[in-house]
Amino acid sequence: MPPAHPARGPHGFRLAVRGWLLALAVLGGGVGGAAAAPAPFTIEVRTLGRALTPAQRATVERAVARVAALITSPFEPVRVDADAGACDRALPALHETVRHLVIYVNVTKLDDDVYADAAPCDLHDRTFLPIYALINLNSAGLADLSRVDLLDTMIHETLHALGVGTLWTADTRVSIGGEQDDTVFLRTVGRTTYYTAPRALAAYRALGGRARPGIPLDPDAGHWAGNSVCSEILSGTAGEYTGRVNPLSPLTLAALQDLGYHVNTAAASPFRLPQGACPVE
Ligand SMILES: [Zn+2]
Repeated sequence: MPPAHPARGPHGFRLAVRGWLLALAVLGGGVGGAAAAPAPFTIEVRTLGRALTPAQRATVERAVARVAALITSPFEPVRVDADAGACDRALPALHETVRHLVIYVNVTKLDDDVYADAAPCDLHDRTFLPIYALINLNSAGLADLSRVDLLDTMIHETLHALGVGTLWTADTRVSIGGEQDDTVFLRTVGRTTYYTAPRALAAYRALGGRARPGIPLDPDAGHWAGNSVCSEILSGTAGEYTGRVNPLSPLTLAALQDLGYHVNTAAASPFRLPQGACPVE
């Protein structure tokens, strides 16, 4: 199976230029009584741009459901008042109490070597977890993307939408109310950036990885370095493979925990680190 081209592309950089302050929000009241059972974490897809076919739409829904099923902590309802284009010029105005994570899936023309990109928009106060997010799907070539590759791509991008690889730097960790978070996820030594937050680091060690000073990342600091963690859903460009849904390993599940999500640890896929060769089957 040949390595994929660098299809997953950029994801986090947009956060730095976003107009956080253009969005005003207050916490919605009535989060739920103490006796109320927590709602399952759900993700609502809102589509923009070119229409998806019914089959593509079904694949997108399957991908977000796969990721949502990992999360066991509830979404805290929050009032959002965001102007059109406040997060990204593709987005409409948003004036509502958001009750579950909203992901806008925008089918639009991207660079030829990119399938998709993604980034969270506003973040909750206190928890710094996303309220809504944007995934851009490249309209060029989408019709030729196999179902399994679209599924793999959308699971990958949905993880970015949740903050994996996109909320690892201080400049991205600013809440809708303007709070800044100082959680440290990354450490750069020489020319390599390492992931250092504790849960994923422990998962990496449990898989036999030598996690000093951390888990090596791709140069974009948003994916596991493809030669260290290959054939995984968040592997970087040297280690991602097409023609299959790459495993969502305990490593990526633990990265969700590092962001503050509670997760179903039984939901991870079996995974082994590479022993000198990729892909890992
Ligand atoms: Zn990515």
